[in-house]
Amino acid sequence: MLHHTPDEISERHALKINPAKTCQPIGAMYAALGIHGCLPHSHGSQGCCSYHRSHLTRHYKEPVMASTSSFTEGASVFGGGPNLRQSLKTIFQVYEPDIVAVHTTCLSETIGDDLPSIIKGAVEDKTVPEGKHVIYCNTPSYVGSHVTGYSNMAAGIVKCLCEKDETESKRINVIPGFTDPSDMRKIKGMLKEMKADFIMFPDTSGVLDTPQTAEYKMYPDGGAKISDIMRAGGSSLSLCLGRWSSEAAGVELEKKCSVPFKVLDLPIGVLATDRFVEAVSQEMGLPVPKSIRDERGKLVDMLTDYQQYLYKKKVAIFGDPDTVIPMTEFLLSAGMMPKHIITGTPGKAFDKRIDALMKEHGHDYEYNCSNSADLFYLHQLIKKEPVDLLIGNTYGKYIAAEENIPFVRFGFPILDRVGHSHFPKAGYMGGMHFISGVINTLLDKMDRDTPEDMTMELVA
Ligand code: SF4
Repeated sequence: MLHHTPDEISERHALKINPAKTCQPIGAMYAALGIHGCLPHSHGSQGCCSYHRSHLTRHYKEPVMASTSSFTEGASVFGGGPNLRQSLKTIFQVYEPDIVAVHTTCLSETIGDDLPSIIKGAVEDKTVPEGKHVIYCNTPSYVGSHVTGYSNMAAGIVKCLCEKDETESKRINVIPGFTDPSDMRKIKGMLKEMKADFIMFPDTSGVLDTPQTAEYKMYPDGGAKISDIMRAGGSSLSLCLGRWSSEAAGVELEKKCSVPFKVLDLPIGVLATDRFVEAVSQEMGLPVPKSIRDERGKLVDMLTDYQQYLYKKKVAIFGDPDTVIPMTEFLLSAGMMPKHIITGTPGKAFDKRIDALMKEHGHDYEYNCSNSADLFYLHQLIKKEPVDLLIGNTYGKYIAAEENIPFVRFGFPILDRVGHSHFPKAGYMGGMHFISGVINTLLDKMDRDTPEDMTMELVA
């Protein structure tokens, strides 16, 4: 179908074609899975919950457990309070989670269900057993995106669980943005190498990247412990790794527990990882160990050695703002030319940040940058000005095939490839892994396009 995409761009306000985002509850469900012993609960109809679970399952290649209030016509008209109370009763009796994280859907938002009072009632009448927790957030999917949903649940975790503690501490909270368990594991690894005292939440490592042990565990060993999340109110600083997905949690922690916060990019690429490592080193007064400095050196070495394949290559990139921004910076620092940079998540701050990055790197070429954009628009941009490489989630493959552009998968969702749950793109090593993928993809295309009588040597 994509060969019908016209290259003439006309103004559209009321219609999105192939959105570069998905709906809020998916992000909320993913954030909830980052708490140990948590069952996410979708307050709405079964179809929404099935879609959200299957989308997460297809990306992470792991079974994703979640329950639903199972709205029917009655609940849609008279309200879903009784459904939620009955659900909580069944969930605690049958599935025995330590905590249930409730998020809304378009339907329960539209009829205006009041989650705080329904849950308060369930706690008071002992539907929620002693020692168990129910947290919640609102995720109306007609605004924002899956990133907004993740942010709302991360803030909900703080609102419902964190406790103020004024005892002096030299510990940081790390609130990662919407990124894969492999990245969360890598970020924790760097903190451990630096010997930093930290609490990370949400943390989906050990939940959505579990080993095969032949033993089924409904609640895997990973995830942030509830007791640790409660203690986060006594830390000295929160590092929010992603303005769109984790700043709101930092703001809540400051409001509720007086813990100051700092917003950083997800540590993707050389410069964003430098800023993360420096922030931890400065705040905690810790030196940067040789192992981390060596990893950085290897990444810089790789960028230098393969500069001839990267320099001035035009790139189109799309995805979530918190990952696209540091990735754009990474591509710029690798000598590449991001030409079309879009996100489906709304927020003018995205355009401003990309403009600032272009200036910082001294680039004066024409580029297109847009928030709230869709893949139809991206395809039109590429038709008008072709690129050497496309970077984005699974849905980019149709554009890549139509335009015969090398394609590197990055972001959420990746439904048709494996490995992203295990191989990080965060940290210096993650940068090496990602940039090798880019270089190898460009070399594959070069090999394909080279005539037989001019076949390249067997070295890169
Ligand atoms: S109805 Fe709303 S919450 Fe449910 S799947 Fe559709 S957009 Fe998502």
